[in-house]
Amino acid sequence: MLQTRLIAPAENAHPAPLLIKRLLLSGIRYEKTREIVYRDQLRYSYATLNERIARLANVLTEAGVKAGDTVAVMDWDSHRYLECMFAIPMIGAVLHTINIRLSADQILYTMNHADDKFVLVNSEFVPLYQSIEGQLTTVEKTILLTDTADKTAELGGLVGEYETLLAAASPTYEFADFDENSVATTFYTTGTTGNPKGVYFTHRQLVLHTMAMASTVSALDSIRLMGNADVYMPITPMFHVHAWGVPYVATMLGVKQVYPGRYEPELLMKLIQQEKVTFSHCVPTILQMLMNTPSAKGHDFGGLRMIIGGSALNRALYEAAKATGIQLTAAYGMSETCPLISCAYINEELLAGSEDERTAYRIKAGVPVPLVEAAIMNSEGKLLPNDGEAQGELVLRAPWLTQGYFREPQKSEELWEHGWLHTGDVAAIDDMGFIEIRDRIKDVIKTGGEWISSLELEDLISRHPAVREVAVVGVADPQWGERPFALLVLRDGQSLDAKGLKEHLKPFVDQGSINKWAIPSQIALVTEVPKTSVGKLDKKRIRLDIAQWLAAGSAFLSTV
Ligand code: AMP
Repeated sequence: MLQTRLIAPAENAHPAPLLIKRLLLSGIRYEKTREIVYRDQLRYSYATLNERIARLANVLTEAGVKAGDTVAVMDWDSHRYLECMFAIPMIGAVLHTINIRLSADQILYTMNHADDKFVLVNSEFVPLYQSIEGQLTTVEKTILLTDTADKTAELGGLVGEYETLLAAASPTYEFADFDENSVATTFYTTGTTGNPKGVYFTHRQLVLHTMAMASTVSALDSIRLMGNADVYMPITPMFHVHAWGVPYVATMLGVKQVYPGRYEPELLMKLIQQEKVTFSHCVPTILQMLMNTPSAKGHDFGGLRMIIGGSALNRALYEAAKATGIQLTAAYGMSETCPLISCAYINEELLAGSEDERTAYRIKAGVPVPLVEAAIMNSEGKLLPNDGEAQGELVLRAPWLTQGYFREPQKSEELWEHGWLHTGDVAAIDDMGFIEIRDRIKDVIKTGGEWISSLELEDLISRHPAVREVAVVGVADPQWGERPFALLVLRDGQSLDAKGLKEHLKPFVDQGSINKWAIPSQIALVTEVPKTSVGKLDKKRIRLDIAQWLAAGSAFLSTV
């Protein structure tokens, strides 16, 4: 350690620890009458939001929640979830955002592993909760969340219904100061193998993440995404990395916020139009779903800006969205990283270039945001140059990365090998700082000694006019090790076979963008591509499905 100068503070100086409660101070000061909207059912002001957070803190404290306890939430994206994102950590407890899209067994595992003591359950998930209740080892009390008139449910340890409890609680609460390194939130990420792994974030981390994200979305002129006169609606579940942390940013800035509950495409469309939503974010498949909904056809979305993250943004989706008036910007992150790591930034050099070139940069994984260090590492732990060519694992350092996996010392050490967080993504970084994700390490296709990026191939295939959705995986091949296999969903009334796809890809081989082994010799035309719990392509399921089809010689396979 360097011997630096440390000066003892005045005895009565206030250190203002970086606590989530501090994020609540400014929004209400700026715009106390600005609204929080829930579906087409409810709207209230920032003044009411602050009051409800205090009421919730009183309800939880009276129910017995103590600092250090874990309080879990099972809900869709709602104003109540937003209140939990503040009130639970603000009383020193840990918010566990349960991924309600996991299987009942996985949810049970995560709840026992996280030591959940209290659970807030949306009435829609009561049957699911009841199915695992008997095996929960740490839960003591529950609170019911409901939009219906029925305020009762058969839940063990039921304290009461949320709104009834809030109405009876005091509207003020003295939130105490505590160590900013206290854990504020936790949730679980599912890998390709093994049990879900728990990541966790402290108050300090979430506050710093909020500040960095605010400066990214609000201050960069060439990609300005959200100012505080914008209207924000997440289309990323709040259980998926706190809806990417944007609700904290929006609340700090006093932005009007719209929470859509369960994602129903027609309701999303209605909210976008009626509430005049101007900023949102989601994974590519959800955007595709939104754009395919009947009322989106021919609709002018002009003025809507969206961050696309969680998976690669391909050019076809970027162009299709642009044609409807939606401006997309790619960002990169993962559960382990809180999540924001990088976001497209169009510098002066790119602004002076062509629109086509700018698009190529808007869809890359972006430039690391303030306070983030990103590097490329080879398998010996050596850092490689940022020349856009050298390819290796993307590794990271930032103040808000999970410091390990909860109760998984070995996996934690692997995550942090050589003192950098390992992403499991193969990438290159160019001299402008742009990260280009080539593939997940596990998804790279190795054929005849060559490496093929499944992401690049998906991007090129998606440019075929007949293709609505595509997923590419490697399948075992006795001669080549692996060969790419493409799963396609075609647009209505269109047709395509493996030969047609080969003709589409041939020019890219001739230009040298891909090698000839990248052309899939087999494709399957399907009506839907399997998705993960957060709406990404589920490559694990896809590989299993393909293995079965190949074994059974299914008729819908097309081969060249
Ligand atoms: P998760 O932890 O489920 O959010 O998944 C994180 C992973 O999503 C990353 O490790 C990447 O493989 C992928 N990912 C996220 N953002 C992007 C992006 N902009 N481009 C390509 N892959 C991405």
